[in-house]
Amino acid sequence: MTTDRWTQRLAARAAERRAQGLWRQRRTLASRAPRLDFAGNDYLGLAGDPRLAEAMARGARRFGAGGRASHLVCGHRDVHEALEGRLAELTGRPRALLFSTGYMANLGTLQALCEPDTRLFQDRLNHASLLDGATLSGAPSRRFHHGDLGDLERLLARAPAAAPKLVVSDGVFSMDGDVADISGLAAAALRHDAWLMIDDAHGLGVLGERGDGCVGRAHGVEEVPVLVGTLGKALGTAGAFVAGNHKLVDHLIQFARPYVYTTAQPPGVAAATLAALDILAAEPERRARLASLIARFRTEAAGLGLPLTESHTPIQPLVLGESPRVMAWAARLDARGIDVGAIREPTVPRGQARLRITLSAAHADDDLERLLAGLADCQAAEASAAAEATP
Ligand SMILES: *Cc1c(COP(=O)(O)O)cnc(C)c1O
Repeated sequence: MTTDRWTQRLAARAAERRAQGLWRQRRTLASRAPRLDFAGNDYLGLAGDPRLAEAMARGARRFGAGGRASHLVCGHRDVHEALEGRLAELTGRPRALLFSTGYMANLGTLQALCEPDTRLFQDRLNHASLLDGATLSGAPSRRFHHGDLGDLERLLARAPAAAPKLVVSDGVFSMDGDVADISGLAAAALRHDAWLMIDDAHGLGVLGERGDGCVGRAHGVEEVPVLVGTLGKALGTAGAFVAGNHKLVDHLIQFARPYVYTTAQPPGVAAATLAALDILAAEPERRARLASLIARFRTEAAGLGLPLTESHTPIQPLVLGESPRVMAWAARLDARGIDVGAIREPTVPRGQARLRITLSAAHADDDLERLLAGLADCQAAEASAAAEATP
């Protein structure tokens, strides 16, 4: 029996979470376990590329394993500077600023840009880091219906004319895989004298003519003044960046607390990311391979009658509804050595629990066939359970 108040409090929260069927668990993956990964965000298959590991090791040998200090003290090295230059070039922006994680990039950007008179407008399905960034910023924040430009314009029109306004959206929505209407958002923002911030965590490396993302060179800095990209997804390493004009980047260096008060990214990580950018440019066939896997998965899953969404990105959710159903499907796939994301509330709205299946250029045709066979098996298991339940 525990009597201490804190322990009781935590135990009550845990019991409540379990009773809701929402208890989350980590699984420790043994490095040699031969499992099929349809859950990660390694869209180009770069995370395991030996060239990145080699670049990381070389970077560590040359500069040391750690970042040593914050960027403003003595942690900013030429390898970071070079990476910032390459990211600016890739996205067609004057400058880019490296952050240690995407979560921090979003927190830091929103906190630095917002003052009490600022108004934020966020898509309802934005990533948690953007919503948390709004809280940290202290600025009033309104959420518009997902992808609904009319709703956004209505909210913009209602805000005080003199208030600096910032419209914020994911580029590719992380749990749905759909792509924001960047031109539409940019036009709405412009009409109301607002800035637009796009978090292209899942588009960078995958979309765009050169893997420059759903914003990139197609939408310049006038349309999207604040562009966030992350490096831990398609680029296979870790970290993130904010790209924009010189005034924006200078402002973030001065005022973004999650930038100022943290240790610089380990230089080996920056070196590995430079190697990833080289591969992105030199091997466009990775993106072509990914596109063909996406098309094939969609055709065959539709043939099975699976509940696909309108996504044409490597994020292919199957919205199954209630969380126990999702957990049952994920468990059946797990037993076959297949990992998929089982996504429940509060990550997605209640009643929209889903399998989040992600595709990667590293998948073989055979891998895809095993996934589809596993999904067909989940359907068959449900059908036979339903038949038994019918008297
Ligand atoms: C993953 C993700 C982040 C966070 O990036 P990390 O580098 O993993 O912290 C931010 N925004 C979106 C949309 C993401 O999917």
